[in-house]
Amino acid sequence: MNHDQLPDHVNPIGPGEPFSFLCHRKVSCFTHCCRELELVLTPYDVLRLRRATGLHSAELHSRYIIEEQSPDSIFPSFYLSMVDDGKARCVFVRPEGCSIYSDRPGACRTYPVGRAAIRSGEHVQEHFVLLRELHCRGFEENTIQTVKSFMKSQELEPYNRFNDMLTEITQHEKVRQGMPLSPEQIKQYKLALFDLDSFRDQLDKTTIDQLLEVPIRVFEDDEALLEFGLSYIKKLLFD
Ligand code: SF4
Ligand code: SF4
Repeated sequence: MNHDQLPDHVNPIGPGEPFSFLCHRKVSCFTHCCRELELVLTPYDVLRLRRATGLHSAELHSRYIIEEQSPDSIFPSFYLSMVDDGKARCVFVRPEGCSIYSDRPGACRTYPVGRAAIRSGEHVQEHFVLLRELHCRGFEENTIQTVKSFMKSQELEPYNRFNDMLTEITQHEKVRQGMPLSPEQIKQYKLALFDLDSFRDQLDKTTIDQLLEVPIRVFEDDEALLEFGLSYIKKLLFD
């Protein structure tokens, strides 16, 4: 990570370095960070949004998720919709707070910390920053935290674990060299990682079992299905 290119309010921080911060319902800026966002969703975020809403993943996409394929990116991106109310509020924010709090996306949990995971072979190196944005009054609170204790309190372990697994695809050597994907490969990437119900529905009907044996637990365990989807996409793209 090149620290020289960071804006002034973004400060690199070590995992054990203390900072003063607490977010709670009584802060004057409560939910101010839930608007005007470009909230990028990871596959594990979508899994948790499905769990929170009880919607089929295809329905979740049509109601709450925006897909974008930028010309300079190999993979499509997925964003959480914001309400068109002049304030671009998140679709899940309410006056009393986040209506899907226990399943909120990883980016919401991590803020005001930022985490970058850089993969080198089997090893993932973590880099952290603290975003000291002016509107965020949580820094005026006297609770001392470290990145490590903050991540634990926000229950980020499964989010980080699945995101690190995803880097085996998004930071693969062939991807770094600009390997193009065929329309069918992009379709499978979206299906297996971001549309789990449709992927599960199709598992019996496709040729996946010629590439990988389908473990029986994927039919009842979403995390196992996503893990299988990640292995499938790795095999499909790189073997
Ligand atoms: S999902 Fe919840 S925490 Fe995240 S931006 Fe929306 S309302 Fe805020
Ligand atoms: S702006 Fe900061 S303190 Fe305010 S609600 Fe968001 S995270 Fe909490």
